[in-house]
Amino acid sequence: MTLDGKVALVTGGSRGIGAATALRLAGEGADVALTYHSSGEKAAEIVDRIKALGRRALAIEADSADADAVTRAVDATVAEFGRLDILVNNAGVGFVGPLEATGIDDVDRVLAVNVRGVFAATKAAAGHLGDGGRVITIGSCVAERVPGPGMALYALSKTAMVGLTKALARELGPRGVTVNLVQPGPTDTDMNPADGPYAADQRSLTVFDRYGEAAEVADTVAYLAAPGSGYVTAAILSVDGGHAA
Ligand code: NDP
Repeated sequence: MTLDGKVALVTGGSRGIGAATALRLAGEGADVALTYHSSGEKAAEIVDRIKALGRRALAIEADSADADAVTRAVDATVAEFGRLDILVNNAGVGFVGPLEATGIDDVDRVLAVNVRGVFAATKAAAGHLGDGGRVITIGSCVAERVPGPGMALYALSKTAMVGLTKALARELGPRGVTVNLVQPGPTDTDMNPADGPYAADQRSLTVFDRYGEAAEVADTVAYLAAPGSGYVTAAILSVDGGHAA
């Protein structure tokens, strides 16, 4: 398998795209740690499913808004498994609302998880990643195309991942670490259910007139995590059903 002997940490691995990614990486042979904030039982279920695949697994409570907690999660992963090869920055929160109803407290909360938490996790992980290491961040299709009003704060937080990815690719590349960004389109999860209030409009912007599945995003993460993608860095891969076309 492509990830035999590798250790991955997936932030926000208790549900949705993160859970699918944790399972996919384990299916490729990786041992996997995942963080969660509120969904401890669901995180434990994912851990059980990874162990059933014959891999080692660990769930760590760590609020991505708390940089110290995120750093401790990276350290706990290395303490448990002895190394870290793959960081998947997935934990994120959504926000939809008009500018006039968006408070500065909302700005602080969303940026703390979607931007500061990613920075903290990557900074902590970078010291452990060696040649062949991987940083894969889950951005969003809204960095390419904003489908309607009310997205300013969320788009701000996800567009920041573009610059971070390119800059860190330059910084970590000389050590053999690739840094890439996956931008999902509308994907059926708790955050953006395919039967939710905004679903019809989002679906109509894809070329397939359908939502994506979390497993489809996880497949692209698995590609980027594998040794065969070693010359792919600073890339922005859309898994968006053509949402940006
Ligand atoms: P879900 O809401 O389904 O899952 C979010 C995951 O992130 C959960 O595991 C949750 O854990 C975790 N999480 C949320 N806040 C925190 C926090 N403060 N600290 C630690 N973990 C946290 O979302 P998705 O799976 O849909 O989203 C995953 C990523 O994909 C996000 O970055 C999102 O922005 C992005 N994305 C999603 C799209 C979609 O259409 N679904 C489209 C484009 C991008 P817990 O429940 O334990 O708190």
